[in-house]
Amino acid sequence: MPEGHTIHRLARDHHKWFGGSVVSVASPQGRFSEGADRLDGLKFKRATAHGKHLFYEFVDDGTKGLWVHIHLGLFGRFRKRKLPPQTPGQNTRMRLMNDKRCVDLSGPTRCEVLTHRGRKDVVHRLGPDPLLDEFDAEHFIASLSKRRSAIGAILLDQSAVAGIGNVYRSELLFQHRLDPFTPANQLSEDTLAALWDTAVDWLHIGVQTNRIITRFDGGSPRALPKRERLMVYKKRFCIACDEPITVSTQRQRTLYHCPRCQVARV
Ligand SMILES: [Zn+2]
Repeated sequence: MPEGHTIHRLARDHHKWFGGSVVSVASPQGRFSEGADRLDGLKFKRATAHGKHLFYEFVDDGTKGLWVHIHLGLFGRFRKRKLPPQTPGQNTRMRLMNDKRCVDLSGPTRCEVLTHRGRKDVVHRLGPDPLLDEFDAEHFIASLSKRRSAIGAILLDQSAVAGIGNVYRSELLFQHRLDPFTPANQLSEDTLAALWDTAVDWLHIGVQTNRIITRFDGGSPRALPKRERLMVYKKRFCIACDEPITVSTQRQRTLYHCPRCQVARV
């Protein structure tokens, strides 16, 4: 599943490509026909993201703002099309096009039109997003310090913190040598603040490079070869102590951690 950096990257690109232009919107598959009919021919105002949720705002006279809400889920993806675009595939939920760009969306978990209030409701259910300037470590600490679930589970809970997915989870816990099974509310504020700061740094690098990189060795993000850009995710042995990496399941997703380096601390 794409993590937050991918969605923010899409928001950035789509804003650049479509922002301020009149767009055509279609649903070749038919499952978004009603929404597409409502939006076709309107001005695309902007694209934004919160966690793994992508939003487009449209300018529609008479409403306070009309939004499209997209969640890619496990299988959703966008494909860029050259102009003039070929006939879209039958699984194309939405085709978005202006006179310069065309993208096709297929397989999302969500693709729906929302009012201003509807969009607010979605965002309201999401935790602080390390990629949004409006949030800082204080929000993250406030969100996590009340929760008794294990930190490894909480990092995937989008209502606690938005945008971190399975790869960043294992990497963040390893970076801070945290036992994934420590209850979140037992971690000190300093530890939580450090975790947040790392998430902010890494996710921004993720948006910039369009990939997950957590290991730099002092160089630029792409300095290391591809297979060495992660520290613990899908690794067999710990890069710090050579101990075999433990593979387990936490919150239904595969977790990788070093049982020797990642010991509980508060
Ligand atoms: Zn280790």
